[in-house]
Amino acid sequence: MNALTDKVKKLAKDNRMDLVGVASIDRYAHAPEMVYPKAHLPEANAVIAMAIRYPDAMFANAGAGDAESIFSIENYQNTVIGKNLYNAALRVTRLLEDEGYKTVPMMVSGRWRLHPYKSIRTEWCADFSNRHAAVAAGLGEFGLHALCITPQYGMRQRFISVVTEAPLDADPMYSGPSLCDKCMICFKSCPVKAIDVKPEHLEKIQIGGRVFEYAKVDHWRCGWSEQVNNIPEEGPAMGGQEIGILPPEQGEITDEMFLSAFYEKNKLAGFQAQMTHAMGNCMRMCIPPPLRGKQKMPAPYCKKLMATRIFEDTGEDKTKPRKYKISI
Ligand code: SF4
Repeated sequence: MNALTDKVKKLAKDNRMDLVGVASIDRYAHAPEMVYPKAHLPEANAVIAMAIRYPDAMFANAGAGDAESIFSIENYQNTVIGKNLYNAALRVTRLLEDEGYKTVPMMVSGRWRLHPYKSIRTEWCADFSNRHAAVAAGLGEFGLHALCITPQYGMRQRFISVVTEAPLDADPMYSGPSLCDKCMICFKSCPVKAIDVKPEHLEKIQIGGRVFEYAKVDHWRCGWSEQVNNIPEEGPAMGGQEIGILPPEQGEITDEMFLSAFYEKNKLAGFQAQMTHAMGNCMRMCIPPPLRGKQKMPAPYCKKLMATRIFEDTGEDKTKPRKYKISI
């Protein structure tokens, strides 16, 4: 490893990063041009991927114990964990700048362009993908749910990336035991059916000589729960929200439908709707094969609460959202 790569990794670790890896720019040969490293820094030669792990018991027990709360994980994720990631990314950036290399820190996942634009053909697209960077830097591989699984922590970490001109040494691609055995738990536990595993819809991508295949994720459905908290069983119920709105079973979700469901849920759930947080069940329930028996499987709170749903209508019109109430 060259001395600068060593210095970067040491600084990342000294700044509380549990995982750090480097991807060479050639691993992005097949990436979409508006979201690849050179779109952010034309001189880019490498991407540094870093991650901080969640406290394991906090993750496994969130919403599942007698406390029935996910306040702790919500706040650590959005404050302390996020701030530590930004802090480490900024320090690594400054180190590389001081060494004379242009460097741009990326953001933690959380902002998207919702519609296709110019060469961006997908919906809900970030300007840079930390999960793809993590795979390109050898930190792990994709699961069926299209997220990066690591051998050390499975799904229990959060990523950030730094794009740099510096000629850092790349880490090898992950080549250990498979981290996804297609157990389908992520697919079965998604309350909005966002994960499409039809063989003809699977996405294939090539990174660093490896070909990965994962499910097509409907990000409007995922965002329906995870971003705007319309599904109380994915977390908002833990704050006291009893009102839910399911996305339509068939047809497209439009901006208008998305927005009006969000307003309707807020109106029905009252101020409680401001105090909620959703935690994707795909992420929560996925324990990769090498970590089974080591990581505790969270209790399926989602399923238990789903059984209490009382719908406002019969659900005959499958193209419309459905309102319901749960008993908490
Ligand atoms: S839950 Fe199972 S199928 Fe889904 S990503 Fe994890 S290991 Fe793969």
